[in-house]
Amino acid sequence: MRLAILLATLIALSAWGEAQAAPRPGSEPDLERFRAMYKELVETNTTASNGDCTLAAQKMAARLKTAGFPDQDVTVFTAPGFPKNGGLVAVYPGKDLEAKAVLMLAHLDVVEAKREDWTRDPFILVEEGGYFYGRGASDDKAQAAIWVDNLIRYRQEGFKPKRTIKMALTCGEESGGPLNGAAWLMANRRQLIDAAFALNEGGKGQLDARGAHIANTVEAGEKTSQSFSLEVTNPGGHSSVPMPDNAIYRLTDALEKIRAYEFPVMINDANGAYLSRMSKVVGGEQGAAMQAVVANPKDAGAGALLSKDPGLNTMLRTTCVATMLSAGHAMNALPQRASATINCRIFPGVTRQAVQTKLEQLIGDPQVTVSKITLSRGEPAGGAAPLTTQVLGPIEAVSAQIWPGVPVIPYLLPAATDATALIAGGIPTYGVSGIFADPDGGHIHGLNERVRVSSVYEGREFLYRLVKLYAMN
Ligand SMILES: [Zn+2]
Repeated sequence: MRLAILLATLIALSAWGEAQAAPRPGSEPDLERFRAMYKELVETNTTASNGDCTLAAQKMAARLKTAGFPDQDVTVFTAPGFPKNGGLVAVYPGKDLEAKAVLMLAHLDVVEAKREDWTRDPFILVEEGGYFYGRGASDDKAQAAIWVDNLIRYRQEGFKPKRTIKMALTCGEESGGPLNGAAWLMANRRQLIDAAFALNEGGKGQLDARGAHIANTVEAGEKTSQSFSLEVTNPGGHSSVPMPDNAIYRLTDALEKIRAYEFPVMINDANGAYLSRMSKVVGGEQGAAMQAVVANPKDAGAGALLSKDPGLNTMLRTTCVATMLSAGHAMNALPQRASATINCRIFPGVTRQAVQTKLEQLIGDPQVTVSKITLSRGEPAGGAAPLTTQVLGPIEAVSAQIWPGVPVIPYLLPAATDATALIAGGIPTYGVSGIFADPDGGHIHGLNERVRVSSVYEGREFLYRLVKLYAMN
């Protein structure tokens, strides 16, 4: 989920590096309650192997009920057959029944973490040297805890929102989970989570190596992952008698054609806003190319210049790349079977079938079969969520209050989160957290995952103000 281009460029040009220090809400009386809740979430193992999301959901539901939420507004759900993959939906009713809700979405599950590999116990929230360490400390339990905390704060202060505020904490976002909770809710409990739009993980601030605030990034669209299998079969034979038709050569010919092809440049709200804003930051030839491509996606020269950067290239188009290869059965036999896996990252709005058809056209060989490999996430290709001023305006306003001078930069995430399931079902979803990350990304999914303590507290304040602003308008 890291955006190398953004970081590299912004760090090189850290004009905002010395941004004013953000408020330190450490003196707030309810900060300890938030911290305890965050700790409880991190310390509840929610890995796919031996964790329990339902337990984490129950703990957060108990917190809400203790804070005065009535039973009818707090729903712990499980899909039939998946007792440990449950989640929580909570509703904070608004005054205006006509106004559609704003949904706060986060996932409870975390990537596996082995105690023997980690320096500290991954399921203990450790505060050390200005960082919180723990599996999920960043992805995604900080935001999940902030959402619960938001609801409790709004209720305790008697906030009367215009829009209903909803929260969904789900399981199965990380690959390997047996069930995707967000997709399940969309298919089975749509009314419960229905909303004008949703806020989710995927956007975060970027810090430079010194901890200065560089940019507050907002994810405004994401690509769909779809893998395809290419397969060639052949009767084979003795390798002492080679034949013109060979499964391996046929397959490698097909791979060469895919390698040589570039999908067309496409511009939507997410990458369009990114390029427009970044063009002013980077300037020069690259900045001009960014503007040119937004004005005309078919500008081949500008597209080629930008595509040299892998981080930009993936934001501009569908990409397909060979990731696995397997062929032959003996050193002295002609291959009877050759297969390759092609992983495509599909631009929002493009269908999987269109990509498959393109691959088949490129290969132009009916003996090379192309088939979709089903992924556990199984999400359909959604269009991009429109980046309206109704959505972006409040983000910019609250960001300017907390980090004056730090730019808000939308972008297109080349990977996929639960947003894809919501967008496909018609709920525009944006990644925004205000939790700024170090250049190393905080070791998300890796060893010793961590996030700055100050970043979590700033993100908490940011999201508290942001959701409040959305709910009032
Ligand atoms: Zn995540």
